Amino acid sequence: MKKNNLGNIVFILLVLLTVIVWFVFPPINDGREDFARTYAGEVMGSVVIVLMSFSLFLAARPKWAEPYFGGLDKMYQTHRRTSTSAFLLLLVKILVVPITLENWRLGNYLAFVSFFGIVAIVLPTLAPRIPFLNKLSGPTYESWKKLHRFIGIFFIVGYIHALTIDALSAFIAINWVQIFFIIGAISYLYTEVFGGLFKKSVPYTVEAVNHPNNSVTEVVLRAKKDPIQKQRAGQFLFVRFLSDKHMNESHPFTISSAPHEDVLRVTIKACGDFTRHLFANLKAGTDAVVEGAYGMFDYKTGGQKQIWIAGGIGVTPFLSFIRDLETGLNHDVDFYYTVRHRDEAVFVEEIKAAAKKHERLKAHIRYSSTDGSLTVEDIIKNAGGNASGYDIYMCGPLPMVQAFESKFREAGMPAGNIHFEEFNFK
Ligand SMILES: Cc1cc2nc3c(=O)[nH]c(=O)nc-3n(C[C@H](O)[C@H](O)[C@H](O)COP(=O)(O)OP(=O)(O)OC[C@H]3O[C@@H](n4cnc5c(N)ncnc54)[C@H](O)[C@@H]3O)c2cc1C
Repeated sequence: MKKNNLGNIVFILLVLLTVIVWFVFPPINDGREDFARTYAGEVMGSVVIVLMSFSLFLAARPKWAEPYFGGLDKMYQTHRRTSTSAFLLLLVKILVVPITLENWRLGNYLAFVSFFGIVAIVLPTLAPRIPFLNKLSGPTYESWKKLHRFIGIFFIVGYIHALTIDALSAFIAINWVQIFFIIGAISYLYTEVFGGLFKKSVPYTVEAVNHPNNSVTEVVLRAKKDPIQKQRAGQFLFVRFLSDKHMNESHPFTISSAPHEDVLRVTIKACGDFTRHLFANLKAGTDAVVEGAYGMFDYKTGGQKQIWIAGGIGVTPFLSFIRDLETGLNHDVDFYYTVRHRDEAVFVEEIKAAAKKHERLKAHIRYSSTDGSLTVEDIIKNAGGNASGYDIYMCGPLPMVQAFESKFREAGMPAGNIHFEEFNFK
């Protein structure tokens, strides 16, 4: 069993165990008319609480848990899955449990508040997948994030509802679920209330701001005192700048410098409000706050033969890999860097120079507007017609990464050999 899958496996086992606990220690049949439906509803409600507690736990970004999921970006993928499963199960639960409109007590009102609160938050969260819902959460990621912050309150209200309704008597099962409620509630309070006391937010200064082309900013950051801890090349950080309110938002960026450098470099493509504002306004001398480093995107854990694929600004972790080659390269790497136009490519000369210096690194720069789009067929052909013995490392626009992943899988590449960094937490 791979360590980086252990977290997901434990989550699945805990969900199964929750169901098993309810069946091994069933509630006392008190003779009520809808006993079976109430029982089924309580089992589902318990699983919803367990899944939501996982989501809240992962949203607290516990750094120590990264190796068990394969990095923080993968933890956010699991967060999306547990949240979506909890939401769908909640909808099924509503259909299953007997609901009466008479004799409402506190628990019923709380259920109503919790359910509609969760629906109002989760539907817009699914927005990237259901475009018309985008309108509900507002146009920006920040407005979506602000709305998302209330989910824990409805989780807590939902649990209090479970305690204040006419629930079935199931001492062991209810206490088992209580453990998860406590984990979820503490995680939520940590994220939103007291986490700041423990989180390592480290003060930096912007030492230099460079523009390698007309849409990319390279920011050079120097620690005011102790720097953040970097474990390996290719990790990412969260940074905010203290110059004005637009820039005081924490955003994730890959560290494109090497771990041994005494400064941090991030290379940022202007694509939305924050990054465009930064491109136009960030100045040397600005104070910054950095959190990290996170991430497990690490070619050094892969096999001898490797293929690296960077699309657009997805080149940043590979820049860090290349800048870290001080002691040489112990892998045979075909590095494909693809952008639409020549002027979109950044640090090409540096990549070519590294390929000249390290003969095991072969750089293939592809301008799709003139050379045609890079395809998996091209890559496999170049690998001698069979890439199954290779490890693939990809970073780039999500549709590109997803399309490449499914093509490599179709070509018989084992899933465990395909590694990618998602530039997306939503
Ligand atoms: C692990 C990781 C590493 C990244 N590395 C780089 C990099 O090296 N260079 C680079 O140019 N970009 C990188 N990104 C993407 C970068 O974070 C977004 O482009 C940037 O945050 C967009 O902000 P915006 O307001 O300009 O754009 P918007 O249009 O507001 O957002 C575009 C998308 O970026 C994401 N995003 C926006 N704000 C945040 C936020 N506060 N936290 C998390 N995600 C957000 C959302 O998916 C959103 O849909 C990385 C993202 C991740 C998750």
